[in-house]
Amino acid sequence: MAAARRISSLISRSLFASPASFSPSLGKVGRRGGSASRFSTAVALDEPIVPSVLINHTKLLINGKFVDAASGKTFPTYDPRTGEVIAQVAEGELEDVNRAVSAARKAFDDGPWPRMSAYERSKILLKFADLVEQHMDEIAALESWNCGKTYDQSSKGELPLFVRFFRYYAGWADKIHGLTVPADGPYHVQTLHEPIGVAGQIIPWNFPLIMFAWKVGPALACGNTIVLKTAEQTPLTALYVAKLFHEAGLPDGVLNIISGFGPTAGAALASHMDVDKIAFTGSTDTGKTVLELSAKSNLKPVTLELGGKSPFIVCEDADVDKAVELAHFALFFNQGQCCCAGSRTFVHERVYDEFLEKAKKRAINRVVGDPFKLGVEQGPQIDSKQFEKILKYIKSGIDSNATLECGGERFGSKGYFIQPTVFSNVKDDMLIAKDEIFGPVQTILKYKDLDDVIKRANNTRYGLAAGVFTNNLNTANTLTRALKAGTVWVNCFDVFDAAIPFGGYKMSGIGREKGIYSLQNYLQVKAVITPLNNAAWL
Ligand code: ADP
Repeated sequence: MAAARRISSLISRSLFASPASFSPSLGKVGRRGGSASRFSTAVALDEPIVPSVLINHTKLLINGKFVDAASGKTFPTYDPRTGEVIAQVAEGELEDVNRAVSAARKAFDDGPWPRMSAYERSKILLKFADLVEQHMDEIAALESWNCGKTYDQSSKGELPLFVRFFRYYAGWADKIHGLTVPADGPYHVQTLHEPIGVAGQIIPWNFPLIMFAWKVGPALACGNTIVLKTAEQTPLTALYVAKLFHEAGLPDGVLNIISGFGPTAGAALASHMDVDKIAFTGSTDTGKTVLELSAKSNLKPVTLELGGKSPFIVCEDADVDKAVELAHFALFFNQGQCCCAGSRTFVHERVYDEFLEKAKKRAINRVVGDPFKLGVEQGPQIDSKQFEKILKYIKSGIDSNATLECGGERFGSKGYFIQPTVFSNVKDDMLIAKDEIFGPVQTILKYKDLDDVIKRANNTRYGLAAGVFTNNLNTANTLTRALKAGTVWVNCFDVFDAAIPFGGYKMSGIGREKGIYSLQNYLQVKAVITPLNNAAWL
């Protein structure tokens, strides 16, 4: 490996329009594609840049202390650029989950967190946000190192958004209150909005910090305590920021972090009798398991944010260059590893040929390489399992006679890089048009008119998101109302402001995260009724 270099000096521009959004400015359309190099000239992978961050925390965080797993076991975490081990991490299992839940229970039942003034809680969340901001470069480097996402994306997009989420929820902490209800009586009736208790949270590997923020922010603002299980592929950044939370004054036991695997640590959390709520983000199959584990244990309420196969609809009036760029971003962002990726690109027949030609060119021009190098747009997939799965889907596309326009193979000879891939001639019943591929594979489908595309876009078990590209207000209004999805982006994509709710229709999930809606996930409503005895004053 080359000698360590400061990452920050390598980065001089942002792909992001604003810290509150993942979306590129449409004003930049064309420039990135035009100046980027081809696969053959993409940045060499031979000498991966060494990220300038030390890995200080690899143990479990239980009751405010970093501790070994009860079994003493550890598991490796990898650099997806090379497949090499970057650290050994404590492997939490049932006994560790039990210890963490009992620390969280004690912190909730007897500790200061749910009892302190909401203003004090909000000050700790704000202090945490400040500390993260001070360590932003290091945290972003760790996130990119463990996930393979570009450093530009981590540092200019995700970290500022992470900080923004915590400031947003700090703002909510002292604005949560119930109602006075005018019941028939004479009764005085009020509702108290109380924290639920111990929240179990299970997060995935594609956005480890963003998912941490969506779950931890509202849970803490409402006064809950937490046991959070990170994804086995990406345990590092949650441990780093959890340390900062304690420096900010979070009492011990309020936030416990378990690294470990799904069927052991995750299942132990979901089926724990003393966990009062589960929030899960991941695949639809695992979401079903989590719901079942909750039902079979103590019926804890469950929120689920699951898979998707989101349509991105390019209408006949579209400015094709802009539509190509946005559709490209909607699919390829984060190596295609987004639950809401615009993974079915529906293009009106009138603009189909032009769109296809340009979409193919844009994909060929996508810069793949070391995510720490300036100008690289696409890093590796997360691990060998996902890498193999994506290549299988590509093979299935070829076997089912979709036309492979470009890509289709691994990129380089080590790590988990895949060439940006585009299929045309895709039919609705092909596997690549039905399943969530979770990789850099764009499938382009031709449609005739609005009725045709509405039926086909909705013909999926998923309903997480949709994209619409049009200048026609009537078309936009028709599509936004007809599409069965929790989010519809019109002429933009992946805009993730803290205040905007996110969640799925159909098998894409249960409940909403972010915004005011997320607070409901972490509150119980208690009705308190007292007789009004002195009728003379009523
Ligand atoms: P993926 O297949 O993309 O890794 P998963 O849905 O399996 O997605 O993983 C998302 C999260 O769910 C991870 O933290 C993982 O460890 C956890 N998980 C996996 N299996 C289970 C399970 N049986 N019970 C609880 N959590 C699980």
